[in-house]
Amino acid sequence: MPMSEAFKNRLLPVLPRTIEHFGTPFHIYDEAGIRETGRRLKNAFAGIENFREFFAVKALPNPRILEIMGSMGFGYDCSSISELLLSRKVGGRDEDIMYTSNNTSHDEFIAAAADGGSILNLDDISLLAKVPVMPERICFRYNPGPRRVGNDIIGNPIEAKYGVSHDQIVDAYRQAKERGAQRFGLHTMLASNELNHEYMVHTAEMLLELVEFIAQEVGISFEFINIGGGLGIPYQPEANELQIEVMGREITTAFQAFRQRNGYTPALFMESGRYMTGPHGVLAVKAINRKEIYRTYVGVDACMNALMRPALYGAYHHIDVLGKDLAGGMEVVDVVGSLCENNDKFAVQRQLPQIVDGDILLIHDTGAHGHAMGFNYNGTLRPQELMLREDGRIDLIRRRETLDDYFATLNFEEDSLPPKV
Ligand SMILES: *Cc1c(COP(=O)(O)O)cnc(C)c1O
Repeated sequence: MPMSEAFKNRLLPVLPRTIEHFGTPFHIYDEAGIRETGRRLKNAFAGIENFREFFAVKALPNPRILEIMGSMGFGYDCSSISELLLSRKVGGRDEDIMYTSNNTSHDEFIAAAADGGSILNLDDISLLAKVPVMPERICFRYNPGPRRVGNDIIGNPIEAKYGVSHDQIVDAYRQAKERGAQRFGLHTMLASNELNHEYMVHTAEMLLELVEFIAQEVGISFEFINIGGGLGIPYQPEANELQIEVMGREITTAFQAFRQRNGYTPALFMESGRYMTGPHGVLAVKAINRKEIYRTYVGVDACMNALMRPALYGAYHHIDVLGKDLAGGMEVVDVVGSLCENNDKFAVQRQLPQIVDGDILLIHDTGAHGHAMGFNYNGTLRPQELMLREDGRIDLIRRRETLDDYFATLNFEEDSLPPKV
């Protein structure tokens, strides 16, 4: 089920006014829906002593969104200096921030430690020698390699660039301990958009087993495990949603068994992006052209820089045409943007109601990895972002890009290096 009935009931009555006031295109996010999902996630894991979600900032890096996460008691999962700065801007400090980069640079280490610090999650054993100051608390990202299979978006662990290999993981903690680390966590991130809760349960079990093993080998104990993000949402109308409550129950059982064997349990961290915000955003666009050649094309006033997923992964995003349904006559069309790139399409050979210029299309599930992935190819500018508040107010939370933004990097002091004589 894409966009929920509850979101539709909140959005559709205010949409005409919103379009009139702000103009298209825009992403609009639903605060009530995001909070509802946050409550549901917390409830599902309420049986675990210390559960915390660290919202994956890359999914929807907007300060107004991050404030909502903070108000629910969530932390922030960051992978770049900009994401760190954004999280700190909304009050994230120290243990509120997991810093999970890969191919980490010196500047990133400095930024991760600055300004109250963060939980540093190292992607490789070789990085131990490169951390400028070894923090007291350290985490490693684990890559199980052939021990697990991954999925389409993230690929098989054995081919993935992420994490410390199985053969190196004990040594990684041993060396960290020798360098002065005293508090430890273990992280992994294996799947993306996974709808089968069993996969996530196996990931938690795998980490708990590994924690027991490493603890014995190295003589340390673990403060937390972090099962990563990757919880899926149903983009297709016929897809079933992830059974989060069952997942919570089964992981809680695994934690109870761990406690019986070890006399303590680590905290459970998670860093969901898509699950938290994906279904709670839509992209509203206007049909501006219609073209009938070998296929019928509906051209809209946004392009793939507002939503890359169809082009990047062949992803399906459900589309509604405002005020029209299939009963009123339908046709098969490609919904396209303006880029000189043939994969600049929001839908390919999709059955939709008959669309004329001026119709409003709602592209569902753009609340995560939507606006954030955009780019400026072809000199195109990214759209604005709005938020539908719980009280019905609609806030602009990011303005649309302007030509000045686009040309800003051409504003610089001239510099050149003469040829060597
Ligand atoms: C992208 C990413 C996430 C979030 O993934 P979702 O599929 O949005 O849940 C979490 N952790 C890390 C390290 C990531 O790279």
